[in-house]
Amino acid sequence: MRDDFSQSTKDTLARRVNFLCSNPDCPLATVGPHSDPEKAVNKGVAAHITAAAPGGKRYDASLTPEQRNSADNGIWLCQNCAKLIDSDEARFRVDLLREWKVIAEAKVDRSIQSNSPLTLTAPANQLRVRGSYADGKHGTHVSLNVFNAGASPIYLSAWYAEWGDRSANFSLNCIRGQLPVRLQAQDTHMLVVDLGERGFTDLTKVGLVDGSNQQFNVGATETAIMVQEAERYSILHRKPDNSELESRLRECEVDVHTEIETAPHGKKTLVIDFTNKSDIPIPLVGGRIEWEYDPPRTQPRGSDATGPVREVQQIGGSVNLACRTILSNSVPPGATVQFYVHPDIAGVLVETLLGDVKDKDIAITFGTTTRSGWKAHEHEIPGTIREFAQYVVDSRQSQ
Ligand SMILES: [Zn+2]
Repeated sequence: MRDDFSQSTKDTLARRVNFLCSNPDCPLATVGPHSDPEKAVNKGVAAHITAAAPGGKRYDASLTPEQRNSADNGIWLCQNCAKLIDSDEARFRVDLLREWKVIAEAKVDRSIQSNSPLTLTAPANQLRVRGSYADGKHGTHVSLNVFNAGASPIYLSAWYAEWGDRSANFSLNCIRGQLPVRLQAQDTHMLVVDLGERGFTDLTKVGLVDGSNQQFNVGATETAIMVQEAERYSILHRKPDNSELESRLRECEVDVHTEIETAPHGKKTLVIDFTNKSDIPIPLVGGRIEWEYDPPRTQPRGSDATGPVREVQQIGGSVNLACRTILSNSVPPGATVQFYVHPDIAGVLVETLLGDVKDKDIAITFGTTTRSGWKAHEHEIPGTIREFAQYVVDSRQSQ
C-alpha cells in the first residue's frame, strides 16, 4: 500500500518553489510551453522525502499514512533529480533533502518578501558578519556574530576560512552555536569556531557560506585586527616573563570614557575611548565588557536521553570590543584608541539589565601583551552600558 500525495499536495509543493527543481545544483524549470499553444508541459515530480511504501528509499516506519503523504514529506524536483535521489540512499539522506527544500523555498520567499528578482544568491550585503579573536585555550578561536539585515530568511550552511597560501577550510563544527542554521530576517546568531592547526597565521578570510555557496566575509580590517590580536596573545604565551614591562605598566595611568553615539539615521553605537595618560607606550591587545552574576546562575546542560541533566554555574558574561582603527604596536603616550559595540551584535548585553547583575560587577577590561591590564568600573560606565543595553532591547522590539 503506497501513501501517495494528493493532487492538491503536489500543486502546493510545486508552487512553494515556483515550479523550479529544489536541487540547488540543478534548479531547472519544471513547467513550460507545449508545442500545442493550448497546453503546457510538466517535467516536475512531487518526490517523497521518506518513501511512500515499505521497501522504498528512506522509508520511515514510524510515520502515520497521513504524515507520509503530507506536504511536509514531499519535495518538488525535476524528473532527473527525482531519479537521482532514489539511486543512492546513503548520499541523498533525509536531512540533505530537507536542506534542499529549505533553500529552495527560502529563495522564492526572498524574492516575494523583498520585491526582488528570483536569484540564486542573497544580496552580498544581506548578511553582516563581524568577527573577533576569541582567546580560547588554543589561541585559534574566532567569534562570529552574524546579523541578517535583509527582509527574508537566509540559510547558513557552513563557516569557512582561507589562508594566504590559498588553502581553505569549510566546516560545520562549532565550539559555540550551531550550523547549519536558518536565520530569519533581522535575527542574529553567534558562533565560536576553531581555526585549527593553521590558526591565525596568514589568515586572509573568514566568514560563512549560504546554501548557494555564496560567501559572507568578515571585513578586511576586522580580519587584520584579529590576526594582530592573535599575534599579541602568542607573544604573551611565548614570553611569560615580561616582568619589567609588566611592573612599569602597572604604574601607568589610563583614562576610560564611555559614550553612546547616535548616527544620522538614528542608530546608536556604544563608544569606548581608551587614553594613555602615562609617558610610556602601552602594548594594548584589546578590550571587553564583562559582568558577573550575583549569585551565579545555574544552567542545565547536557540533557540527552542517555544521561542525567548536569548543571553548571554561570558566573558572568562578556562582549569583546571592536576597535575603530587597527591597533598598531602600541598606544603612544597621550594617544586615544577608540573601541565600539554595534547594537546588531550586542544582544547578550541585555543580561546586564537583569537584577542579578550589580553596578559594581559591570566593568570594561583592557589587556596588554603582559599579564598587566586595566579594569574600569567606576563613574558612568555601568550606567552607560545599561542604557545601551536598554536601547538594544527597545530597537529590537520596535522592529
Ligand atoms: Zn533537477
